Amino acid sequence: MKALVIGSGGREHALVWKLHQEGYEVFCAPGNGGICQDATCYEAKSVDELLQLALKEKIDLTVVGPEAYLAQGVVDVFESHGLKIFGPNRKASQLECSKVYAKLLMDECGIPTARFRLFDDPVQAEKYVERCEFPIVIKADGLAQGKGSYVVMSREEAFNVIDSLMRKKIFGESGERIVVEEFLRGKEMSMMVLTDGKTYVPMMSAMDYKKIYDGDRGPNTGGMGSIAPAPHYSENLWRSVREEILDKLFPALEKRNVIYKGVLYLGLMITQDGPKVLEFNCRFGDPETQSILLLLESDLLEMLQAVVEGELERRKILWSKEKAVCVVLVSGGYPESYKTGFEIFGLNKVKDAIVFHAGTKKVDGKIVTSGGRVLNVCAKADTYAKARRRVYEEIEKIHFENMYYRKDIGLFIS
Ligand code: ATP
Repeated sequence: MKALVIGSGGREHALVWKLHQEGYEVFCAPGNGGICQDATCYEAKSVDELLQLALKEKIDLTVVGPEAYLAQGVVDVFESHGLKIFGPNRKASQLECSKVYAKLLMDECGIPTARFRLFDDPVQAEKYVERCEFPIVIKADGLAQGKGSYVVMSREEAFNVIDSLMRKKIFGESGERIVVEEFLRGKEMSMMVLTDGKTYVPMMSAMDYKKIYDGDRGPNTGGMGSIAPAPHYSENLWRSVREEILDKLFPALEKRNVIYKGVLYLGLMITQDGPKVLEFNCRFGDPETQSILLLLESDLLEMLQAVVEGELERRKILWSKEKAVCVVLVSGGYPESYKTGFEIFGLNKVKDAIVFHAGTKKVDGKIVTSGGRVLNVCAKADTYAKARRRVYEEIEKIHFENMYYRKDIGLFIS
């Protein structure tokens, strides 16, 4: 069996690592400095290049990492050439690619989410925020590499965000429409489900740490760490997610002639009134996947294939009872500007944790930094505390110039 993973981050390295461990022949495009140790990497980046690669290598199953490829219709293109590919098609990936679409759909079928208003005119948006009580949340409609949502504390700040998104168009077309929504209070949790369009199977819950500094302070990032399962997960909570969200969502999609196949990521706020949807993503979460895959005991490729073949109903997914912790090492300065090209030392000394690469590349046999989020150091143990200790002890062995990481991932959880 040959599998191709599309992408180049920590999530993709975790997918490649698991598939490699299962004994499959794994390819990755474009990959990174660590992925090429577990997979054959190709430079292919465009949908057409990826298609040619999959045809040439006679790939049995392709797994899509980043949402941008889903938005470009990579699934539609592969399927039209008779290739098996894991992920929703372009129409189904609207759920992530347009927040306006997702909000209207949730509204229509009564899925709990923050109250909201939609705007395509900055003047109307400004008029509206004049009357709001703060904080509020302003979101660009389209994809913005995880940077399109703002928690806004004042009228001035709201005006600035509206101006940047709608007039200056810092995210291009993605900001032509915006969502202004109620600020929700509670605990965040991520939940992913696999679905073949007929059945859905929950994956493990997780919690990610979005802010750059300890104590959840500072600006949002692509994720500074994750733990799995989420400590506040319970069977009762899962029942609410199922009944209040998923059992309403899938029939509503079907009514719109949308068959959703792949993984659906729910970004949830667990409020006093129960779980509310912050966002849908149409792909595996990053860095949640790095923790979750450490705990997956079932064969990943078989699960993904069951989704693609529409045979999920017959599958059981098995999980370890352990806890997993993942800490992201970033380039100093991230999520603002940072320097790259620094050699990474000590990777071969790490024995008690798994290191998934993200922003790294191999230059003259050396691994050097090439992005903001550089490495994901992950471990599992029977308690969060033990897994956490293991990760932080192993991090001590790794070094690159200006390396930064949060010290509180999984803290206070025994
Ligand atoms: P990504 O896809 O990378 O997670 P995004 O740009 O789609 O990012 P959201 O997930 O919608 O953004 O929001 C990012 C973060 O902002 C959330 O994880 C949450 O911390 C906060 N947030 C978003 N919406 C709300 C809300 N209504 N109330 C409170 N906090 C919110």
